[in-house]
Amino acid sequence: MTPREVVEFAKENNCQMVDYKFLDFVGVWQHFTTPVSEFGEDIFEEGLGFDGSSIRGWQPIHNSDMLIMPDPATAKVDPFPEVSTLSLICNIIDPFTREGYSRDPRFIAQKAEAYLKSTGIGDTAFFGPEPEFFVFDDVRYASSANESFYCLDSVEGIWNTGREEFPNLGYKPRHKEGYFPCAPTDSLIDLRNEMVQVLQGVGVRVEAAHHEVATGGQCEIDMRFDSLVSMADTLQWFKYIIKNVAVRNGKTVTFMPKPLYGDNGSGMHCHQSIWKDGVNLFYGDGYGGLSKEALWYIGGIMKHAKALCAFTNPTTNSYKRLVPGFEAPVNLAYSNRNRSASLRIPATTNPKSKRVEYRTPDPSCNGYLTFAALLMAGLDGIENKIDPGDPLDKDIYGLSPEELKDIPAVATSLQDALESLRNDHEFLLKGDVFTEDVIDMWIDYKMNAEVNPVRMRPAPLEFALYY
Ligand code: GLN
Ligand code: MG
Ligand code: MG
Ligand code: MG
Repeated sequence: MTPREVVEFAKENNCQMVDYKFLDFVGVWQHFTTPVSEFGEDIFEEGLGFDGSSIRGWQPIHNSDMLIMPDPATAKVDPFPEVSTLSLICNIIDPFTREGYSRDPRFIAQKAEAYLKSTGIGDTAFFGPEPEFFVFDDVRYASSANESFYCLDSVEGIWNTGREEFPNLGYKPRHKEGYFPCAPTDSLIDLRNEMVQVLQGVGVRVEAAHHEVATGGQCEIDMRFDSLVSMADTLQWFKYIIKNVAVRNGKTVTFMPKPLYGDNGSGMHCHQSIWKDGVNLFYGDGYGGLSKEALWYIGGIMKHAKALCAFTNPTTNSYKRLVPGFEAPVNLAYSNRNRSASLRIPATTNPKSKRVEYRTPDPSCNGYLTFAALLMAGLDGIENKIDPGDPLDKDIYGLSPEELKDIPAVATSLQDALESLRNDHEFLLKGDVFTEDVIDMWIDYKMNAEVNPVRMRPAPLEFALYY
């Protein structure tokens, strides 16, 4: 839509209010609202002012005036407020230079798209994330969260190795059998259906929805892939809608990667391909039906995977998911069948759907930063023809320590990821996509706001071990 069309769109939908949405650096939507009487085409030229100093990771107080600049292409009617509300996703700009703000994740993602074009390698990078999430507050599941908190097993009275409950009189899914029996074992179909319909109402194309493996009400709703920035915008709508539909049904949703000890965590596998002039560059006659560019792209992701973890797995909780035995990858290997590998090549003979699935990311990440960083790592692989080595078509969880010793692994903690990013970020700076300032700010913010505070607090299990 053009600015003029957005004004028309607001009239057609009888919008009374306009809601401006933008991201903090962590990736959580912020917003403010104006009456529609304050809205017009000029807003798309002039922007609107706000105080940037209160937003996580942003401007210091002495330099805090910022402008939001709404993107007319993102206009939708917000499905939640009671009065009809026009919603716009905004970029952040500096009021003096009128240039994009280097700490705005959406600007970083836009620069990554521009960088891809500038290399001549391709014109479009497609991303298809598969976010998983937990639904809580259901009587069937409420106890699971408590058990996880205390890390006790209801059956064996030791650190739990399974989550079986006896007698199971409530159709509770058996341990790791949530994927995917019908109702009444699956009690969440109506909730997911409502989520899907609200998503469709704002134009998100949904491909499938299902219960996931974990017993604690874990679900997945899959969206159609899209180009980088559009997909990241859609992922924001996704989290917003999933959480709000849950709340209006008396439930809550979490995208934290590992809420339950001893059960599967929530990943956000990312399917990726690069296209040029309408042709998928990843289709070829190499291993798994991949082109040499796709294999180098894999090489780039493997080379930078530990540093990438600082964006793809950006919470202390992320590393409680990246352990063996729960379908989450630990080792950096690629394979065309193997779900224990971090990079899987989905079986397809259709040239249009040939792609690489990176299984490490989790849904606590900021989509703009994650997609941008993955693209930059993959492009670094293509530009430098980085050989990904041989594929690994074995169950990696079953390998002996001897066999594992030469296979690189993902980061083991957020601190490990941040240190890796400190030492390996040149590939992110190309085309000024990420800046040194952004890398430093991210590492400092994560260390001070998350790593250290978590490290300094006694955990429940420590009382059982050491009291
Ligand atoms: N939940 C698993 C993960 O953490 C993935 C399960 C699946 O989709 N096969 O990545
Ligand atoms: Mg899936
Ligand atoms: Mg899944
Ligand atoms: Mg998957």
